[in-house]
Order: sequence, then structure tokens, then C-alpha cells
Amino acid sequence: MTTRVPLSTLSPEDLAAFLAEKQAAYTALQERGLTLDLTRGKPAPEQLDLAEDLLRLPTTHLDRSGADVRNYGGLEGLLELREIFAELLGVEVAQLICQGNSSLTLMHQTVTNLLLWGGPGSPRPWKDEDVVRFVCPVPGYDRHFSMLADFGIEMVTVPMHHDGPDVEAVRALVENDPTVKGLWIVPTYANPSGAVCSQEVAAALMAMPSAAPDFRIFWDNAYALHHLTEEEVKSADALSLAAASGNPDRPILFASTSKITFAGAGVAVMAMSEANKAWFLQHLGMASIGPDKVNHLRHVEFFGDAEGVRAHMRKHRDIIAPKFAAVDDALTAELEGLDIAEWTRPTGGYFVNLDVLDGTASRVVELAKAAGIALTPAGSSFPLGQDPRDRNIRLAPTFPTLGEVETAMAGVATCVALAAAEKLSG
Ligand code: PLP
Repeated sequence: MTTRVPLSTLSPEDLAAFLAEKQAAYTALQERGLTLDLTRGKPAPEQLDLAEDLLRLPTTHLDRSGADVRNYGGLEGLLELREIFAELLGVEVAQLICQGNSSLTLMHQTVTNLLLWGGPGSPRPWKDEDVVRFVCPVPGYDRHFSMLADFGIEMVTVPMHHDGPDVEAVRALVENDPTVKGLWIVPTYANPSGAVCSQEVAAALMAMPSAAPDFRIFWDNAYALHHLTEEEVKSADALSLAAASGNPDRPILFASTSKITFAGAGVAVMAMSEANKAWFLQHLGMASIGPDKVNHLRHVEFFGDAEGVRAHMRKHRDIIAPKFAAVDDALTAELEGLDIAEWTRPTGGYFVNLDVLDGTASRVVELAKAAGIALTPAGSSFPLGQDPRDRNIRLAPTFPTLGEVETAMAGVATCVALAAAEKLSG
């Protein structure tokens, strides 16, 4: 029996038959003894292979100015690499710095600095405030939330729409509450929804009055260049929008080559206003005499220019786009028309957002686990891991092979259907 009507409209007999069918399918799934993992958004080995030549670079130890990159210095990072990423991210070279491999570390350093010293416009260090709150569009990136929790920063959620955070919900918080000091957003191909923040939403976020004079937007553009289709969307120009509306210090941009070259040996970048940059470098200068410029030069030699990076990303797309298509195919084949699940068809980034029947996400993850398919814990895209509707599951299809994604997703779809049938059967 292939049911194509909303499950909630089935008669008790038909629902019982559907449940029995899914239980049998699930038993067969368990008997296959699978060991598959759709948890973390990691590049697959073939994607890492695309950048293998990095291991043989650089061919020189001199940068364009003739300076020896093996030595100390150059706190802002190698100029020629800053030029490439400034072009790619649509910012001025003077606004951008290149550092070590992890943008998450740069975000952590930024929050730490704000807590310890405050930033431009801060009346006092954030640690001296009674309460510090961040606006968190949900679903969002689990590591943003866990970092905030670790710092003792409170999180207030707002809905994430297909064109960015709910502007009116953000405005209501930011305009009226001086304890709201920050907002964290993945503007392009958001983790996990794939949403792309529109020009209008970005402009509103940058322009809205804030009760806190040092309100910051962490503009984590981790997936700015990670297109899954030929349409290569351009991120909204947060820095210019903010400057034009009189809030130049509001946004701080982050990105990295973690999913461009090597996740463990890439380059992270940050772009910001002149005042924010001077502030950040002043504190960074206490911690470092300069970043790994040999790695910076290696990346410059490998890519040549911004177009070299874009061309490289098309090779990534060729490897991973079929995996995203496989996720959609498997979910469509099993679940279309049943009205028990919705999922995204992202045009970029690393994730598919799957919303299952309310109250069944934990059960789906549990069922999948018992069948040898590891999924990210239900709720992980929400602060403190708490999804109030227990319906959200983040799927990460890039690391497994295409065949593994197909097998795993067919299994996940079975688990979604079974959990829904169980729930509706009461
Ligand atoms: N930001 C987002 C939105 C991510 O999804 C990830 C990794 O999954 C990161 C940052 C991590 O970045 P990095 O490897 O540069 O520390």
C-alpha cells in the first residue's frame, strides 16, 4: 500500500495497516545491520582531495613585498590573501584580516574581548552587566548556542524565515531591551535551514535602533561561497548597510576556508569597521605576533585569485549536489503527501532541515540510531538543545558517499513515517 494522503485523515483501520507496514519496513531496516552517519557537516575525503596540492605549496617563502613569510609579523595576515577574500566577501581590503584555521575561534575571541573589555561604544565590559542576552534565530548553529551558554550569555529565540530572521521579532527585542547585546546569524545558506538573508532583512537589521549602544551582529558567513546550484547568490553587504545607517560597528563578519580547502588547515577571516578592527587587533596583539603566513601564501599560490576560489567551489558543488538531491529524493519517495514532514531543498551550504510531526523528532533519532543510522540529536539546532516542538532534525549529507546517503535517507524516511504513525495511533 502506498499512502499519499495526510496520515491524520486515515481511518483507524488504514492507520493500523500503515503502522504495521512501517514496523515491518523498520524491522527489515534493522536487520541490515547498517553503520551510517549523517551527523556533522564535514567535507568528504574527495572534497579534501581537491586541495591536495596545498600540501606541496608554497613554492617560495617570500610574499609579494619580498618579506619572509616564515618569520614573525604581519598581524593582519598576508595582504595578497586579504585581497582575494575581500573581493569574495564584497568588503574593503582594509576591513578584512586573515588568521588561523578556525573562524569559530575568532568568534570566541570576539565574545571574550567584549566580555573582558567591552568594545567600541560599550559603556562597560559585558562581564560587568547584570545580564547579557543574544538574539538567536532558530533553528540555528549548535556551536553558536553552546558557546553562548558556556559564557553564561542568555539566549532569546526568534524565528528564522526563508529570507532571514524575523525582523519584527528582532526589533521588539533590540529596540527595547538594553541587555540585548548581540545577534548571531548565518546570513547565506544558513545552518541548518539554508535560508539566505535578503537585502531588505539585512538592511533592517543593520539600521534598527538598539537600546544597547554596543549591540553587535555576528555575521557568520561560513557558507558564502558554498553554492549548490549555478545561481551563485551574493550575500547582502552588511558592512556598507550598517555604515550607511550610522551603525558602522554593529556587524562583524566571519568566514573561513574550512569547507573550501582543509577544515583542519585552512584560513579564517574577519571583516569589520575601522574601529572594530583597531580594537580587535589591539587585543590580538597581546596573544600573537602574527598568524601562519606560510599557510596564507600557500592558499594564495593555490587559488591565484578570487575566480580561482569560485572555480574551486564549483568542483565541490559537483561532488556534493548529488548527495543533497538524494536526500530530497528519499524523503519525497517515502513521505510526500503524508503531511507528517517538511524539509528544505537548499541551494547552498551543508545541511537539510527536516521538520517532522510535532513531538516525534526524538523518537525518529532514537529509531534511526537503533537501526545503525546516526543523526544529530533532536533539538541541537536550538539553544540548550531544547526544541519546544520536538520536531527539528538537522541532516548533514556531505561526508558519507552518495550510496550511503541514499541508504541512510531511505532508512530515515522509514523512521519518520513509523514515528508519525506511532504518534497518531496514540
Ligand atoms: N560557522 C558555521 C555556521 C558552521 O556551520 C561552522 C561549521 O560547521 C563553523 C562556523 C565552523 O567554522 P570554522 O571551521 O572556521 O571554525
